Amino acid sequence: MTANSVPEFSPEFALIAKHFARPAKAGSQVLLGVGDDCALLSVNAGKAIAVSTDTLVEGVHFFKDVSAESLGHKALAVNLSDLAAMGATARFFTLAITLPAVDDAWLAAFARGMFALADQHGIALVGGDTTRGPLSITITVIGEQDAATALRRDAAKAGQDIWLSGTVGGAALGLRYLQGHVALKPNVVPRAVARLERPDPRLALGRALLGVATAAIDVSDGLIGDLSHICNRSKLDAVLDWPSLPLHPALLSVGPEMRMQCALAGGDDYELCFTAPIDARDAIRDIATAVDTPLTRVGALIVPTGEAPRVLVRDELASVLDLTALGLHAYDHFALR
Ligand code: ADP
Ligand code: MG
Repeated sequence: MTANSVPEFSPEFALIAKHFARPAKAGSQVLLGVGDDCALLSVNAGKAIAVSTDTLVEGVHFFKDVSAESLGHKALAVNLSDLAAMGATARFFTLAITLPAVDDAWLAAFARGMFALADQHGIALVGGDTTRGPLSITITVIGEQDAATALRRDAAKAGQDIWLSGTVGGAALGLRYLQGHVALKPNVVPRAVARLERPDPRLALGRALLGVATAAIDVSDGLIGDLSHICNRSKLDAVLDWPSLPLHPALLSVGPEMRMQCALAGGDDYELCFTAPIDARDAIRDIATAVDTPLTRVGALIVPTGEAPRVLVRDELASVLDLTALGLHAYDHFALR
């Protein structure tokens, strides 16, 4: 090496090599992974590529003091959830990370959380970008699927059922607890916070629903807001029955207003909300058993009753709730509040 030659191992490349480059598995679809200008990936013949990106920004999507391991898990989980909502099979991902400084212990914990989830779903980190600045994480996931059977938002039909996986409201309750907006009994805190910090992307469910469900979306910004995307794209109204909603058990310990707020407008649960014909009910109950995930019928789709498609929520007495008066709306980064 001459005096002004470039060192092969800069701190940036050392960081990537230490924390993010892992040898490709034999027989994998990664032909060339981390380390070159591009990754080279092979996809199965006849499949479409499903791709999705999500960013997490400190102070917006997570608290400064969240554990690095949980953050690594969540950054990947929220992306995999989008693949799940299409019924895609996850294959690869890239990681663009902006860090205020190199903190090896933090990076090791972040990588541990991220790779544990990646390994659980058999997917490979194939590239990314590493820069300095305020902490922010952008992951792009790449999956495969048959384009013809993908669970699109625009394919729901009037008269079909609306279903929900797992429970809703737990993550929003965990968030409100961490923000100091609600007091919780110590025994429910870990469950609510785990829902917020360690979402479980429903990939097996999404795949099992192919050919059975008509439309699907993952609940990331709140049930009403996310379901309204299906309504808008499919040009239908949704009628949700409040008493049928599968509430997270921690919600039983808070008042009715907070309960409704978290379950209908709270985000971050990463459950799947999907639609299916009435004659698919038995098949869906079998899927619930097969993927070991509770699936609950929560409402139905109808021909629009107003000027624009919307979500209607009926209470115990089947009266339609006034969602605006209740202050229930989806999370929107640019909303004027
Ligand atoms: P380029 O200058 O071509 O953008 P970089 O120097 O940014 O390449 O990255 C070098 C290699 O390391 C590339 O293969 C890139 O995909 C990979 N890489 C960079 N950052 C990350 C990361 N955070 N996770 C995984 N791979 C990364
Ligand atoms: Mg780069």
